[in-house]
Amino acid sequence: MRTFLWSGSEDIRKIHWVSWEVVTSPKTEGGLGISRLEDVNLALLAKWAWRFTVEQGSMWRGVIEAVHGGRGNWCFLPIKRSISGCWKCIVKILEAKRFNGKSMHHLIRGVVGKGDNICFWSDFWLGNTLLKDRWPCLYKLDRGKKCKVNERVTRGSNGLVFTGRWYRFPSSVEELSEFQDLERLLHNAGHHQSLLSDSVDKWNWADKNGSVFSVAGCKDLLHDGNYTGQRFKLKWESWVPIKVNLIAWRAERDRLPTRVALEKRRVQIDNVLCPFCNLVEEDLKHLLVGCGFAYGVWSGICKWCKLDPFFAYDFDDLLMLYKNVHGGKWRKKIIRGIVMITTWVLWKARNAKIFQDKNMKVVEVVAEIKSRAFIWLKNRSKFSNIVERLFKDEATKEKGERARMASFVGAMAIADLVKTTLGPKGTKLHQNRPETTHNHPEDPKFETVFSGQPYPEDVQAD
Ligand SMILES: [Zn+2]
Repeated sequence: MRTFLWSGSEDIRKIHWVSWEVVTSPKTEGGLGISRLEDVNLALLAKWAWRFTVEQGSMWRGVIEAVHGGRGNWCFLPIKRSISGCWKCIVKILEAKRFNGKSMHHLIRGVVGKGDNICFWSDFWLGNTLLKDRWPCLYKLDRGKKCKVNERVTRGSNGLVFTGRWYRFPSSVEELSEFQDLERLLHNAGHHQSLLSDSVDKWNWADKNGSVFSVAGCKDLLHDGNYTGQRFKLKWESWVPIKVNLIAWRAERDRLPTRVALEKRRVQIDNVLCPFCNLVEEDLKHLLVGCGFAYGVWSGICKWCKLDPFFAYDFDDLLMLYKNVHGGKWRKKIIRGIVMITTWVLWKARNAKIFQDKNMKVVEVVAEIKSRAFIWLKNRSKFSNIVERLFKDEATKEKGERARMASFVGAMAIADLVKTTLGPKGTKLHQNRPETTHNHPEDPKFETVFSGQPYPEDVQAD
């Protein structure tokens, strides 16, 4: 999987720019949110434990009980070590694994209603330990180790009452002190009115009230608290394609293959100077922030978005640019997206210069950023109809948040830029087409969008 991510193969080894550890952490923690197969597998196995607990009375559970259950087996999931097979494997794996420091059994907690489905001794329902572990002496004395809650506890006029079925009555000091503890705990629990009422027994997942098992939630538990991505500031924008988000994500971590970065990784580079200005070494900070070319582009973007002039020291400052924007959530989203698009287009311009010897002017780069922003905002955001109407100068009829959004986009003069940069053919091409996403910035399809040439599919359709 990781080789695939960095477009390598068995024969060709490519640089893995970001560690697999980071790639597999959630987006909110600075990763890509890609699941590890190991975790998915484990979560799916854990689901069997949940289903075994919840689906009482089902056929498959009956079969497992018949094969693996029996006298002397009081584990949470029944297992006979002598019988091999997939159930034994599942139980063995789950027994060994900790989910956020807890055992699988710990995460499935009974909420006692009638009390006819939850085991008194061997399910989690009262306190944070199994009662058989809390009172081992009493457990030894009990005649029915698998008894349900309603077989031991009843609701009397003075709260909960315990009725034991003993081999002999508790008599030693340990047994009596455990019995005292039992009575005290039941007395405290007596305030919960739902306990031993007419409602059905339920199961909660991971100590959250009313929550049921989910594979995604289980995967999260496997890693809770293990992330260190707090210092990263990038927020992913859904209205901007993933490939653009990805470039910004890599830029924030300084993991783009700039000439300096390549040299650091022992790739032989003849010339490490910035392709735009040929004056300074091309590291990420210079390319996207410090270079005169980049500065020109960012100034153009600020002017376009009517932002106050700002001073960026590094790429993080650009990611924080949206904080200078006053107004609603959507304004900030748009600015965040535009910063990403600018980064992406700058990176593309840099590649065009290096690999195709194509010189782009600052105005051309700014124009491309504007038209990309328009197309994606129109086709990928929920405000598509507004952008469309804006194009026809009708947006002023909108009300509330939509009107504010429209006037903001209007201030950005998107309508004008579309007429000037795309031309009638280019716009027509995109009005009825949902934006497709390609993973590679150098995808030849992209070049055709702005040269006014139809996509290959269009030719076929005609
Ligand atoms: Zn430069």
